[in-house]
Amino acid sequence: MRYLMTNLPMGLGDERNPLGATLAAALGGETGDYAEPVLERLSLDARHKGSIRFLAALSFTTDRNLDGLELPRGAKVEPAAPPVSWDVVPLARKPRVVVVGSGPAGAFCALRLLDYGIEPVVLERGAPMSERVKGVAGLWGEGVLDLDANAQFGEGGAGTFSDGKLTTRIGHPAIRFVLETFVKFGANPRVLYLARPHVGTDVIRKCSVLIRKEAEARGARFRFRSRLADVRFQEGAVAAAVLDSGEEIPCDALVLAPGHSARDTFEMLHRHGVAMRQKAFAMGVRVEHPQDIIDRAQYGPSQGHPSLAPADYKVVCNFGPARAAYSFCMCPGGEVIQCSSEEGGVVVNGMSNAKRDSGFANSGLVAKVNTADFGSDHLLAGMYFQRKWEQAAFRAAGETYGAPAMSVQDFLRGRATGKIPATSFRPFAVPADLATCLPDFIQEQLLGAIPDFDKKIHGFTSRQAILLAIESRTSSPVQMLRGDNGESVSHAGLYPCGEGAGFAGGITSAAVDGIRVAEWIAQKVGAPVFQPFQRNVKAGDYATEY
Ligand SMILES: Cc1cc2nc3c(=O)[nH]c(=O)nc-3n(C[C@H](O)[C@H](O)[C@H](O)COP(=O)(O)OP(=O)(O)OC[C@H]3O[C@@H](n4cnc5c(N)ncnc54)[C@H](O)[C@@H]3O)c2cc1C
Repeated sequence: MRYLMTNLPMGLGDERNPLGATLAAALGGETGDYAEPVLERLSLDARHKGSIRFLAALSFTTDRNLDGLELPRGAKVEPAAPPVSWDVVPLARKPRVVVVGSGPAGAFCALRLLDYGIEPVVLERGAPMSERVKGVAGLWGEGVLDLDANAQFGEGGAGTFSDGKLTTRIGHPAIRFVLETFVKFGANPRVLYLARPHVGTDVIRKCSVLIRKEAEARGARFRFRSRLADVRFQEGAVAAAVLDSGEEIPCDALVLAPGHSARDTFEMLHRHGVAMRQKAFAMGVRVEHPQDIIDRAQYGPSQGHPSLAPADYKVVCNFGPARAAYSFCMCPGGEVIQCSSEEGGVVVNGMSNAKRDSGFANSGLVAKVNTADFGSDHLLAGMYFQRKWEQAAFRAAGETYGAPAMSVQDFLRGRATGKIPATSFRPFAVPADLATCLPDFIQEQLLGAIPDFDKKIHGFTSRQAILLAIESRTSSPVQMLRGDNGESVSHAGLYPCGEGAGFAGGITSAAVDGIRVAEWIAQKVGAPVFQPFQRNVKAGDYATEY
């Protein structure tokens, strides 16, 4: 019989022992009593700095009777759930599907449609990877923005220049499918069991291209530099996708997975009366420290142990029921990066390579922006709010694509001395007063939260800590409304999908949503309901997802 043992404590280094021996030590018997042992999950328990350990989950097959065994405190052994099969029968009737966006939502939607024999056209406004990388290098090197090839737009979507953390809070059987797909296309197999799986931007770029090539080999058609400029509707239903060039691609289903930065697309959809609502998000700055400070604070005497990856953190400070400041998208061993996609606006974010070896640690330090903060009932007010502050950051950076920056200590004292600590940010950090590019309510929360974070992460307010602005694209400022069949409640055949539509907040949840939308499209033409998708994940506050 196959079992799953959870919460098995392991000392640092013990995770390298043969799994059979680990099981025999925990459950008795011989190593050979435990067949096909698999490490299913490994999480770090760093609550007690003096005794940092791992907690593991292992599956295995054994004939031994495990009833009544004395287990380590907190550990549990139960029959293992059978794996989910993702096989489906290709459909006889195949709708014409256009997918907008080649990010995780669009790409995984295309892959799943292909399982059903549906061969979609994928429209991507940005450049293919090889050209995109050059565009991004131009921005990070010389400060020149390419509107079709930047950290938001181009092959692989925003996920391409991301940190590649595959953590999510949604909890869904399809997460396994997503992780296995990344592994199939080049991610380290460790992502299958690490509690905080991380791929790294260098690897995720390769995965994105391989996923696209696989989809093309199976019949999908990817069209780069092909922006969805309009939609032709007929009697309230989608009839065709319209490109910039005026070319029309007739379709029965149009999947909208344009990400959170497709501002012109949101405007176009709003003009057509596509049902959407305002959505809260979060905004603030990136904070960066030498990695050493974070390792010391988190690992104490175990700092430097070979089993320990560069340390991360997650901190939150609540100010009543509706206000909170928190860390977001923490990137150990990473870089703060330029993520603008609009002229005259500065946006920062963070990423890291698989090795996480930059020597710096960064994270978004953001405060919740509620819809009431937008200052207008206009559907796109949140988007205009983001733009306004991105433009303020551009001005604070001397009208360049550098990033306005200030030391944490200057920020806390409310005085810009013009001296800033070392940073990984490229093309260049510009000493500035961040008060000029942050709304008052965000500044106040950050000023309240940062000293509190220093109590949790000793050294957080060190003089080597720097803030860069502005972290504004944490999640979508709108949510498109869709019914139980996945279609827009206002327009038949329109399928809002992924982060831009307000149904995801990171790579994994966007990919899962892409798969979910493919299931809905297949069901519309007669596919049986695929059991793992019986459970629909409600759209929540995705701003704290990874
Ligand atoms: C720097 C950075 C770091 C990040 N780090 C992480 C991380 O570590 N972990 C994590 O889970 N998430 C991370 N994210 C967020 C993650 O990348 C997104 O949540 C995810 O990519 C959303 O997927 P998506 O497919 O919904 O949209 P996107 O990935 O944004 O893809 C949308 C695509 O649609 C295209 N598009 C837009 N409009 C049109 C149009 N009109 N016509 C044609 N194409 C269009 C865009 O060019 C884009 O390629 C990070 C994001 C950034 C920017």
